[in-house]
Amino acid sequence: MRNPHAGEPFDTTDEEIAEALLDMSIPTLLLSLVHMSGDPEIIRGKLRPAGLFLNEVQGYMTEEDKAEARALALEVIRNYRDRGCPEPEPIGPELLHEMMTWLVCEDVPDEYVPMLMEEMELDGRDARRIDPVGDPAARAAFPVVVIGCGQSGLLAGIRLAEAGIPFTIVEKNAGVGGTWWENSYPGARVDVGNHFYCYSFEPSDHWTEFFAQQPELQRYFESVMDKYGIGPHVRWETEVVGATWDDDSATWSVRTRAADGTEDVLTARAVISAVGQLNRPNVPVIEGADTFEGPSFHSARWDHDVDLAGKRVAMIGAGASGFQIAPTIAPEVGHLTVFQRTAQWMFPNPNYHATVGPGVRWALRHLPFYGRWYRFLIFWPGCDKGLEAARVDPDYPDQQRAVSETNEFTRQMFTDWIVGQVGDHPELIAKVVPDYPATGKRTLQDNGAWLSALLRDNVDLVRTGIDHIEPAAVVTVDGERYEADVLVYATGFRATEVLAPMTVTGRDGIDLRELWGERPAAYLGITVPGFPNFFCMYGPGTNLAHGGSLIFHSECQMRYITQCIDALITGNHQTIEPRQDRYDDWHERSQEAMRGLVWSQPSIAHSFFKNSAGEIHVLSPWRIVDYWTWTKEPDLTDFVLD
Ligand code: NAP
Repeated sequence: MRNPHAGEPFDTTDEEIAEALLDMSIPTLLLSLVHMSGDPEIIRGKLRPAGLFLNEVQGYMTEEDKAEARALALEVIRNYRDRGCPEPEPIGPELLHEMMTWLVCEDVPDEYVPMLMEEMELDGRDARRIDPVGDPAARAAFPVVVIGCGQSGLLAGIRLAEAGIPFTIVEKNAGVGGTWWENSYPGARVDVGNHFYCYSFEPSDHWTEFFAQQPELQRYFESVMDKYGIGPHVRWETEVVGATWDDDSATWSVRTRAADGTEDVLTARAVISAVGQLNRPNVPVIEGADTFEGPSFHSARWDHDVDLAGKRVAMIGAGASGFQIAPTIAPEVGHLTVFQRTAQWMFPNPNYHATVGPGVRWALRHLPFYGRWYRFLIFWPGCDKGLEAARVDPDYPDQQRAVSETNEFTRQMFTDWIVGQVGDHPELIAKVVPDYPATGKRTLQDNGAWLSALLRDNVDLVRTGIDHIEPAAVVTVDGERYEADVLVYATGFRATEVLAPMTVTGRDGIDLRELWGERPAAYLGITVPGFPNFFCMYGPGTNLAHGGSLIFHSECQMRYITQCIDALITGNHQTIEPRQDRYDDWHERSQEAMRGLVWSQPSIAHSFFKNSAGEIHVLSPWRIVDYWTWTKEPDLTDFVLD
């Protein structure tokens, strides 16, 4: 069978190929040419990228070099087509490493190569899939309940099906996608490049934008669900209210409540929580909020029946969601007042709203491994460099401003980007340049849309605190009254309340959220002592603020979980749970690492990462390569197996 990433054979004309080449990432194209021709000299001459920056896919090559590369490419592609598009010969590890280093203009350390090779699947093998082993009857007798059908729950279903393990997914919404189902607010789009932000085992030649909008993302998850036949396993519009462990039968009783109020209990040998961290809206308590007479709603519960045309809209909160909402609704509304407590750092990405041209789509579909190298090109700049940049240098003098020299450099770059857009509006500059270290909260992707919205005549940015809400206005602490017909809460989620509001009761009647309090933890973000056969995806300590993608993390977690379940079944065990000392040690080390990172900086007063004591338990402080290594295969000595 042809390697699925080798591209579909084609008979495209020379003229069409020449046209398509105009769209493509030239460095990525040159690597595809090496596959097509088998000639590594293509990348050993003067044609090469000159530098690396996140989302800079042309490697700063000159127009002249790009034109030369296209002329060469036309020749190689024509020859490949005329030979009938044969599947390229595999390339050895040394040359592949050379190609990686060439593409990203820096050494790719050896320790990263196995992870990247797996992620790119150049051999066409989905190495994170676990096939059934052992007695099929034993697997069939091991029902699993998955809670949630967002990206991680859907992945869990796919992997369990492949592994021959029966499962039911319980989903509170009426459709798949989780956050991409719920967040339908105007302007919602992903901010990790989609050719990486998708399952590693699914082709990505269909995206219409490099950072797709919510409807396309939701459709993606729906099409993957259909392709893998997961839909029939899902109980839609059904919420898990609780799960209780029974030691005698070594099973979980999972209590569900359907939208019509019907309650049910599912019995499972294992439970996988795939509930996400960002789906319980945080609506601040503001005096008088209930007296507001117009429509009011949270960004994740957008009321599409409300026509905003010509209306005075007040938007409270402007983090990642508000940042996308404001520019999208500003041209339509009569007036928009944005109430922002903390200014946000933003990262220049001029192509944030760019569409994927037909040439790129053709390349992704037909040119051998173009899509895989493109995936690597997006992944690499966000792979652990962000973590290095987030490290606090305790000797750096002005920690309020920057936590290290690198962080100061980032601050300068981000400030230049902001100030360069605002020009001669000192009043606005004072409001939009943050006063805490760069990247200290979640950094946003920006193509200029946010600041150009704020510069509009019908938009105001208010940084003064809110005092109260009246029937037709928001009033700030300085007594200023801002009239409004519609109130939007873009105030984020209760991210630190992991697994809320479910009640998960483990051995000896221990309630998981009571056990955690404000300090949720799980070994590798996945398992908790006293909660046998209970696994978290996107659990505590696994949210990513430094790069990577949650889908990548979910794939790591699900491979690990499937192998834990395999260990139970094939070893004829009843239960698996982490050793208390490993769990304690993990949490302690994670906290120590987290304290040395910019997100913990005490000057960052408000952050959804922090608990009320200012500690961070939801984020990962670890390198992506380490997490991949630790979760590649469970070390069974970390566990108690009974
Ligand atoms: P968020 O980043 O937590 O932002 C919430 C906003 O509401 C902030 O401006 C916050 O101010 C403000 N706020 C919260 N409580 C407040 C209060 N009591 N009084 C006044 N202001 C208050 O939430 P979000 O924008 O919904 O984003 C959450 C996460 O979702 C993101 O970090 C990201 O992980 C994800 N997301 C991703 C995308 C994307 O991929 N493009 C888009 C949207 C969301 P402070 O900053 O002062 O706390």
